[in-house]
Amino acid sequence: MIKISVTSKLDGIRSWSLQALDTCPGSISSPGVLVDACKGCYATTGNYNYPNVKAPRLSNREDWERVDWVSDMVSALQNDRFFRWFDSGDMYTLGLAEKILEVMRLTPWCSHWLPTRMHKFPKFALVLQEMRALPNVSARFSSDSINGKYTKGLHGSVIVADPDQTTKAMTLCRAYENAGKCSGCRACWDRSVKVIAYPAHGRKMNKVIQILKAA
Ligand code: SF4
Repeated sequence: MIKISVTSKLDGIRSWSLQALDTCPGSISSPGVLVDACKGCYATTGNYNYPNVKAPRLSNREDWERVDWVSDMVSALQNDRFFRWFDSGDMYTLGLAEKILEVMRLTPWCSHWLPTRMHKFPKFALVLQEMRALPNVSARFSSDSINGKYTKGLHGSVIVADPDQTTKAMTLCRAYENAGKCSGCRACWDRSVKVIAYPAHGRKMNKVIQILKAA
């Protein structure tokens, strides 16, 4: 059964998610070591540890393999004009990525935002290229940096330690000025916005920044 989640940040916009880290092969820089951006992952702390938050994510991991999953997702999105893939987790396997592409194709009325690190794996190049060719898809490749470093033309989002690190080439996420809510901003879905800068937030991420500064 399709399990959709809603995060308070996104003005009620719905998401389909998986368990963080377990489904994030792009989060690993070397055996046992996470990339900086994933060391302070919000989806491994707080509410995300509650059983009622974990349960749909664990269920989705099995559910997407069903034959009817694509048509069920298309039905589930009938009334959505914006949708976010992966409030937590990532499209860890090609079979899932291909099914998500099919859902995107079959829901042209809905604008899809998909943040991912799977661009690191060459076998995902074609499916990501096909997603990006769709006018209703904003597939953003996440930089691993938490200090505003990104590769122009590759990455579509990066974490900044402080809003002051935002350059002219980036669009700053201002949710922090609006009680942590998008409040009508849809920059992440906007294909003309090249790079979004997300200010680091959360106790765990701030700790990572302090450790890196001291290193
Ligand atoms: S950039 Fe805009 S749409 Fe994206 S998360 Fe921030 S407030 Fe929301």
